[in-house]
Amino acid sequence: MNPLYRNDRPGAFPDSWYVASADIPAERPPLKGDVTVDVCIVGAGYTGLSAARHLARKGLDVVVLDAHRAGFGASGRNGGQVCSEYDYPQTTLIKKYGAGPARLLWDLAEEAKADLRDLCASHITEARYTPGVMHSTYTAQETAEDQAEVDLLSREYGYDQARVYGPDEIGSLVKSPHFHGGLLDMGAGHIHPLRYVLGLARLAEEAGARIFERSEVHRVDKGNPAIVATNKGRVTARFVILAGNGYLPNLDRKVAARVMPLNSFIGATEPLGARADEVFGQDIAVHDSKWVANYFRLSEDKRLLFGGRPSYSLGFPEGIAALMQKRIPKIFPQLQDVKIDYAWGGTLGVTIPRMPAVIRVAPNILSAGGYSGHGVALSGLAGKVMAEAVAGQAGRFDTFADLNVPGFPGGAAFRAPILRLAMTWYSLRDRLGV
Ligand SMILES: Cc1cc2nc3c(=O)[nH]c(=O)nc-3n(C[C@H](O)[C@H](O)[C@H](O)COP(=O)(O)OP(=O)(O)OC[C@H]3O[C@@H](n4cnc5c(N)ncnc54)[C@H](O)[C@@H]3O)c2cc1C
Repeated sequence: MNPLYRNDRPGAFPDSWYVASADIPAERPPLKGDVTVDVCIVGAGYTGLSAARHLARKGLDVVVLDAHRAGFGASGRNGGQVCSEYDYPQTTLIKKYGAGPARLLWDLAEEAKADLRDLCASHITEARYTPGVMHSTYTAQETAEDQAEVDLLSREYGYDQARVYGPDEIGSLVKSPHFHGGLLDMGAGHIHPLRYVLGLARLAEEAGARIFERSEVHRVDKGNPAIVATNKGRVTARFVILAGNGYLPNLDRKVAARVMPLNSFIGATEPLGARADEVFGQDIAVHDSKWVANYFRLSEDKRLLFGGRPSYSLGFPEGIAALMQKRIPKIFPQLQDVKIDYAWGGTLGVTIPRMPAVIRVAPNILSAGGYSGHGVALSGLAGKVMAEAVAGQAGRFDTFADLNVPGFPGGAAFRAPILRLAMTWYSLRDRLGV
């Protein structure tokens, strides 16, 4: 089934705390008739809007098409954690890709965070970037691994923003009886993700890009120029960028085989008031070391925003709020009686090596997605390097493309059963503590 409509109504944002706390602009009109442009972008999330802004600033004529609204997808619903690195630590990337390529990847991930921080400081202040993200651990071995990573980052890259808190200190930051330790990274941070993506859309338009909403792309005909077709319109474009990530239907087989949609869910509790101090000692975001990770932080009105993956099927489960209500006391028993005011889900993209899938689909068709839980920062950079590639500088695009992210065995048709098997296996590992 088309992931664009599997869990959502056409053009409707989910009933999230983010929507309740953002200024949603009036709907933009859909594309009607024929237009000819330099670049047509499919998808108005962080990836597509970042590419659009960079391209429009270079003076290119850019159109962005979204099946729903700008910011409708994962970009408007996520945990808001602006993390360092990729889904695997640098220690693993050095072993896998070698010191040189791992260094390039590190530098790109650092640039991704810096770009986001700069935008939040200058143009999108309403996203309220706040420094501090913790990776919390359950065992002495995991804490020791985090310490080794912090040592490596300091030795190899001079990174001095991360420090490990041990069993005696962790309770002063995150008030759960379950954590053994945690790596606190003050070079990472958290934002209001929907306000950020709405701000990106505004900046892309100010730079000259045109955004059309309720404009699902049904077909992309390869060629030079390429033809992009919606229900009511047609774009003739020198370049096309596919930026639909987990929501992209099977428009292109190569992309669909590599980027698997995965659902994640968030609950926002009632405002905790003074009880917020029973949960956090500092305004940081946390994700834990489970394979099927829990992630949480406080909202600006002191709700606990608590996320995780309680369902491994591709459709959303019934009663997400009740699922979150059960999950929260497993980390914070003191919140046994807390009420959930909002609960929602969203779809992200994951890949086998848990690295972004940046692909040249055809000489003039580029795609990026599959950030595997690290897209808040990395997607903006992916948009930027695709804009560079369109402008003829493909060096940084190729750093990602050369990762050669493989397809899932059996391609798009077998992604879903493989996902279910994999997630069941990983959640079993979490329960067994291995
Ligand atoms: C619940 C949840 C929590 C998350 N938490 C974090 C986190 O804390 N930190 C982190 O780094 N990452 C997190 N992520 C992942 C992160 O949100 C994504 O990696 C990122 O938003 C991807 O941005 P994007 O622009 O590539 O895709 P999206 O924001 O999903 O945008 C894709 C857009 O493409 C449109 N589209 C797709 N197909 C078509 C088509 N055929 N025609 C027209 N339009 C189309 C969709 O409507 C959508 O608006 C989370 C994701 C979810 C769902």
